[in-house]
Amino acid sequence: MQRAFTTSFTRARIEAIFNTRKFGDRTTCPNCGYRHKFWKLSDGRWQCKRCDKRFGLLTDTKINRTEFNLQQIYELLFWFELELTDHKIAKSIDGNYQKIHRFYNSLRERLKEYEEDSIELLEGEVEVDETYFGADFKNRRRHKRKKLRKEGRVKRGRGAKDLKEAVFGIYEREDGIVYIKPVADVTKDTLQKIIKNKTSIETRIYSDTWKSYNGLEDDFKDHKVVDHSDEEYKRGKATINGIEGFWGYAKERLLKHHGVSPENFLNYLKEKEYRFNHRNLTGEEFVNKMLEVLLNRAEITP
Ligand SMILES: [Zn+2]
Repeated sequence: MQRAFTTSFTRARIEAIFNTRKFGDRTTCPNCGYRHKFWKLSDGRWQCKRCDKRFGLLTDTKINRTEFNLQQIYELLFWFELELTDHKIAKSIDGNYQKIHRFYNSLRERLKEYEEDSIELLEGEVEVDETYFGADFKNRRRHKRKKLRKEGRVKRGRGAKDLKEAVFGIYEREDGIVYIKPVADVTKDTLQKIIKNKTSIETRIYSDTWKSYNGLEDDFKDHKVVDHSDEEYKRGKATINGIEGFWGYAKERLLKHHGVSPENFLNYLKEKEYRFNHRNLTGEEFVNKMLEVLLNRAEITP
């Protein structure tokens, strides 16, 4: 595996970076939170003097069984930031595609988990909207069409509508943050339940005229409806440009991964959410924040 970003990094420097991203300035036992005395084991791990737990930098993370060493992991994060396909990255660094893909899938799993945990309540003015992802059935490759038919996901002669993945999204204007969730249907029950879980009752909600959003004004501070057939939506505040901007952002980027399988779709989608929510970081900040997430740092810097 060739390196481009970390070639000049010594092992000591890489270890220092990982230590800081994992623990801040003090090693902390992941089991009991003890921060004072540890045995240093010969394999590089620590053992807590209070609870005896043995742990290393990757203990209890999604990549605790990875074959990559720390420098390779760090290198892979820089490549990830560039937003190429896993195939393209494997080719660029002359690495094993299967291993690299497995590593990135674990990373996506963790980013998805992090997004779910870190976005608690969206506040202020929020926009809500639903959309559909996925290619039309007739545009899918032949072997995939066959597979989908076999799984009973589409009936011969029928349109592609059922195959598209419905996704619901909430956009908070103040911080420019988005939260998305694939949904089985776009009924009032389904969508309003998510809105109630993820937004404060003090929120002003903006939506389009879809009937599932009816009645939100009873549960929240305010509900403004944007009518796309009306000239009004172009003026003033009554828009849902924020969430629509995210749909465009995500769809354009997911096009590059036209082969994403249904079981991986959610991971890729939440990866786009993570990228969008961290779009203001520089490349290096983005990588280091991602490293903190990947290493399950207890207190992650915002
Ligand atoms: Zn301990």
